[in-house]
Amino acid sequence: MKAISAIDIGRFDQILHSSLKTVIVTHMKPDGDAAGSTTAMYHFIKKYYSADVKIVLNDRFQRAIEFLVDTDTADDINIFSEDPTSASRCITEADAIICLDFNAFHRTDKLSDILEGSTAAKVLIDHHLSPDTDKFSLVFSETEISSACELLFYVLMSMPQIQQNVSKLPKPAAVSLMTGMTTDTNNFANSVYPSTLVMASALLEAGVDRDYILNCLFNQHSESRLRLMGHMMKDLLTVTEDGAAYMILDKDTQLKYNVQDGDTEGFVNMPLSIANVRMSLLLKEDVDRIRVSIRSKKGTSANRCARMFFNGGGHENAAGGKLNIPIEEVEDYIKKYVQIYLNEHEN
Ligand code: 5GP
Ligand code: MN
Repeated sequence: MKAISAIDIGRFDQILHSSLKTVIVTHMKPDGDAAGSTTAMYHFIKKYYSADVKIVLNDRFQRAIEFLVDTDTADDINIFSEDPTSASRCITEADAIICLDFNAFHRTDKLSDILEGSTAAKVLIDHHLSPDTDKFSLVFSETEISSACELLFYVLMSMPQIQQNVSKLPKPAAVSLMTGMTTDTNNFANSVYPSTLVMASALLEAGVDRDYILNCLFNQHSESRLRLMGHMMKDLLTVTEDGAAYMILDKDTQLKYNVQDGDTEGFVNMPLSIANVRMSLLLKEDVDRIRVSIRSKKGTSANRCARMFFNGGGHENAAGGKLNIPIEEVEDYIKKYVQIYLNEHEN
């Protein structure tokens, strides 16, 4: 990971000091890293700056990460899909907007145009490839890192209030940072760098209770989620000769198993445990599109496949996108383009 510039830290501090109204935003359908980084940023600003601070989300956090939101924080969260008027007003009135865990405004879905139109100082803290740097006043971008939470940890540690003393991080911010790093690394299974373990160690020293976090994240699911996982791995998984694995989850099956946002998190990784599988795809029918999740082993680029065939992007081995075709046509699309991709572009 690159060193964090002292000049950039000075500018960030100045932006936060001179802002009366600060807004924190993240990508649509926020995952653990998005929730962890936004709530950590929130607690840091609340403790060390005088600005009024709000979190603005396109969609509500998934149930499994709601534990990061205490009642005070909940009052400062505005959700566009539930109350567009007040969510847009927060953004329009903001002097500073902190953007976490995404590389381009379109990743915030319906917040995108309002963010583009705002004249506030915009700060990006992100770990995706190809950030849209021209759109921001200040950018902290690093891809050789586990998560936005890890990058935010190192940014906060460099801030004048903390001066590398982890005990000065607000306790809830420390818990949020550990949580987002844990989900984005799939609990230390991927994207773990030396800096990731240094961060984890420092947060443990500061008293973060990892057992509590793991219990909240992984041991509070519904019975139907586990049954769905069994059904998907047994009946919905197709493994091709080219080394692709795919699962298509239609709306009826989601209704039958009472699938909530976040319930299928992690399922797309599982077929990578098969020796000859190089890339795994999960296609999930959503309200107005098919959401695509892609994971790949080292040497195969999930990111490139997402960009070429699924209107998306992400990281080298974890990417996503969308398809606007009827669910009945998805299997033929996958068979055709994933075969082309694995045989012509990845050999
Ligand atoms: P997931 O499969 O967990 O939804 O997403 C994996 C990664 O792909 C995340 O880092 C996310 O930022 C990225 N990603 C997911 N969906 C999209 C998309 O529609 N567009 C882009 N550019 N990236 C996406
Ligand atoms: Mn992330």
